[in-house]
Amino acid sequence: MATHHIPDGLPSSIRHYIDGRFVDSVDGDTFDVLDPVSNETYATAAAGKKADIDLAVAAATRAFVDGPWPRMLPRARARILGRIADAVEAQDARLAELETFDTGLPITQALGQAQRAAENFRFFADLIVAQADDAFTVPGRQLNYVHRKPIGVAGLITPWNTPFMLESWKLAPALASGCTVVLKPAEFTPLSAGLWATIFEEAGLPPGVFNLVNGLGEEAGDALVKHPDVPLISFTGESTTGRIIFANAAESLKGLSMELGGKSPAVVFADADLDAAIDSTLFGVFSLNGERCTAGSRILVQREIYDEFVERFAERARRIVVGDPHDPATEVGALVHPEHYDKVMGYVEIGRSEGRLVAGGGRPDGFESGNYVAPTVFADVKPDARIFQEEIFGPVVAITPFGSDAEALELANDTRYGLAAYLWTRDLERAHTFAHAVEAGMVWLNSHNVRDLRTPFGGVKASGLGQEGGYRSIDFYTDQQAVHITVGPVHTPRFGAS
Ligand code: NAD
Repeated sequence: MATHHIPDGLPSSIRHYIDGRFVDSVDGDTFDVLDPVSNETYATAAAGKKADIDLAVAAATRAFVDGPWPRMLPRARARILGRIADAVEAQDARLAELETFDTGLPITQALGQAQRAAENFRFFADLIVAQADDAFTVPGRQLNYVHRKPIGVAGLITPWNTPFMLESWKLAPALASGCTVVLKPAEFTPLSAGLWATIFEEAGLPPGVFNLVNGLGEEAGDALVKHPDVPLISFTGESTTGRIIFANAAESLKGLSMELGGKSPAVVFADADLDAAIDSTLFGVFSLNGERCTAGSRILVQREIYDEFVERFAERARRIVVGDPHDPATEVGALVHPEHYDKVMGYVEIGRSEGRLVAGGGRPDGFESGNYVAPTVFADVKPDARIFQEEIFGPVVAITPFGSDAEALELANDTRYGLAAYLWTRDLERAHTFAHAVEAGMVWLNSHNVRDLRTPFGGVKASGLGQEGGYRSIDFYTDQQAVHITVGPVHTPRFGAS
């Protein structure tokens, strides 16, 4: 294997950032952070617990109650958010380098994610300025308007796939809305979160507005979810974790937004543009190492074109360049962590008895170490197979044939998840009929996963709760208070006056 790139200036210890200062854990505890290519410990990170969360929430509460941030004009907040976007853009190459090192994602794809993080900040900066709530009048009687208020200290809990970008997807709307925040990033990938602190400081974000506590989910994450002074949690992660958070947030009746797991179908009809469908379904499941919530990890193909599709798809999958994540030619890098590697390899083994292996099937030749999995394709997979039903979150795909439109829909919906669906057909009526009937929060017709930030993002069934995106994000991070004023004479029924 090629030599492994280690970025200059890596920290050996990763700390929390509370009230404008980098700090260690109150009890001094740390955990190891691994490089996914060598699986060696490259740093230790502060392991936050309830005491650290309490400090962070107290700082965020002070900044919310007494500080300028929630009281600033949206335009003034937007100017700072714009400077943050500029700073992210200016250092996108460095961000991508660090993110690639920490996650194992291919460098070209990590660069795209860094640019998307800048775009998230620019988008919500513009949106908060454009936001206008109408006043509703009943002429001569009543004026009603909506008073929008940031909700308070937002708890943000994020996963390890594309960590920097997913953090930006929560930080940008929370800050744009005037909230102060406590971020708990994923323990596998804590490297890039600390960069926010420096970027925010330089952009002029007041101290205490952004707080960061590293640590394990069951410790730091749990304490954040249970904290009585945190009115809402925005969580992205596994559906099983979402269920635990849902239960724990009940005690303090928190607002919740949950972006959870997926097992999204890509449905290819016989009338599809087959070249485009093959390009896009390959990208849809193997980009970002397959560690992507919206991965099209079940491909349903109409019988007339099934054999040709499987042959061409498998042939292309075998030619995907697996390699050092830092090499610009790499298309699939190393999975994030040995624990996750073992989970994905477990599914590859299960798949051998559940489908016909037509590409990949384990560690690629020439890769003795690191969390490398060859892009793996199982054909003829039945809907009751575990590899059809369970989220693998790696470069593994199940292909299944179907006959009629009705069978395609039944197979597409035969899962507990409902995040995304992809459909390939030239028949407009079929496309819209299918889109409306499929149980998925987002549908892409003849398109891979291209996002418009104004549209809702989120899933149904076990894939999520609530949707963010566009004004929906601002709605989530604000209270919308209805204010009613009588104009002219008061018409109150006069109780006790007879
Ligand atoms: P995970 O659920 O294991 O962890 C996510 C975060 O939750 C981490 O920060 C973790 O420390 C924290 N956490 C774990 N237990 C907790 C608890 N009891 N209380 C509070 N916090 C806790 O998920 P992961 O393995 O990091 O990420 C992969 C998952 O995320 C996949 O299922 C993927 O589909 C999903 N995901 C969804 C989206 C989406 O938008 N729908 C996007 C990216 C990833």
